[in-house]
Amino acid sequence: MILELKKVSKYFGGLRALSDINIGVEQGTITALIGPNGAGKSTIINVITGVHAPSQGEIHFDGSNVGGLPRHQLVEKGLARTFQLTKMFHGMSVLENVMVGGHHWAHKSTFIPVILNRKSVRQEEEQIHDYALEMLRLVGLDKVAHESAGTLPHGQQRLLEVARSMATRPKLILLDEPAAGLNGSEEDMLKDALKAIVGKGTTVFMVEHHMKLVMSVSDNVHVMDVGTKIAEGAPGEIGKNPAVIKAYLGKEY
Ligand code: ADP
Ligand code: MG
Repeated sequence: MILELKKVSKYFGGLRALSDINIGVEQGTITALIGPNGAGKSTIINVITGVHAPSQGEIHFDGSNVGGLPRHQLVEKGLARTFQLTKMFHGMSVLENVMVGGHHWAHKSTFIPVILNRKSVRQEEEQIHDYALEMLRLVGLDKVAHESAGTLPHGQQRLLEVARSMATRPKLILLDEPAAGLNGSEEDMLKDALKAIVGKGTTVFMVEHHMKLVMSVSDNVHVMDVGTKIAEGAPGEIGKNPAVIKAYLGKEY
């Protein structure tokens, strides 16, 4: 298991947003987390990525307990995320936005070598550039690499965010509703990107409402309702699970 949540609970004042959540994510797989609005899905992403410390329980990532660690330390350990709302540098090009992610793993570009224009720094910048371009190819945005990020349609900005997170060379990437606001062809790009990400050895954990996408790419699906995990299984089994059907009945599905 690359990621394991052990009896994780999270309280916001008197509200218990998560109750004793156990989730295991196998390395090299795509795991989806689904559930009605308010179920606690984003809170799970937030406790895994250090936005909130869990109130109780443990979060193990790549062999160590990371519960409550600050975000920058998690990125160094190989954990990346995207946000539900895009955080983009609008004035910069698409490629430059991805290169920002690359500076997480590059170390030589500190101030002194940069002003001396050392060869190693130039080589490193070249590596970051090439890797960023490869990540853009992964999400199908290499053709718009030199356009201004702010001019991209919303759906492509979301794909750019995935490329930018991938530029940190993560072992695990967490995506909060990556298909939200995507049109049909962008959904296909995302689907291909998810497969390519796993192909590169990065494990995927995503919160997603788009059932067709979830069912077609996931190896494993976890289902939440009002702060508890109600089911887990392969995509084919989940849709037949009575507890899952009950949770979604009468709600938007
Ligand atoms: P989901 O992503 O499944 O729609 P959330 O994880 O965003 O659900 O929310 C789960 C519950 O926790 C909701 O009742 C929500 O209002 C509450 N909640 C989430 N974040 C906070 C916060 N920062 N402060 C207080 N309550 C929160
Ligand atoms: Mg949410």
